[in-house]
Amino acid sequence: MTDCIFCKIANKEIPSSIVYEDEDMFCFKDINPAAPVHLLLIPKVHMDSLAHAQPEHQALLGKMMLKVPQIAAEAGLTNGFKTQINTGKGGGQEVFHLHIHILGRPA
Ligand code: AMP
Ligand code: ZN
Repeated sequence: MTDCIFCKIANKEIPSSIVYEDEDMFCFKDINPAAPVHLLLIPKVHMDSLAHAQPEHQALLGKMMLKVPQIAAEAGLTNGFKTQINTGKGGGQEVFHLHIHILGRPA
């Protein structure tokens, strides 16, 4: 989506602190961290929110979920971490491109 800030980050049109990237997903540091480690994992394909995910996204979302603990461990969160997906205005979502927050304090 041309007007989406996270699409622009995934396309590297807007700079970010890249943590992980493959053909399906992109992980970068949150610009306003709420914890010592605060990362955002996004699909490269645009979807507004989790509520907009479709059956064809099942494998992608599963792949992202399995990647979360690997990214967390590489960020030093070996003692555990928190994940959060804000969905919709009522869920506190501010950027309408699906993203998984990964938060924690290195062990
Ligand atoms: P949410 O409230 O779940 O939509 O979270 C959006 C998150 O995106 C917030 O934690 C912001 O700090 C973060 N954010 C917004 N713009 C940027 C950016 N350009 N680079 C990194 N993180 C961003
Ligand atoms: Zn987008």
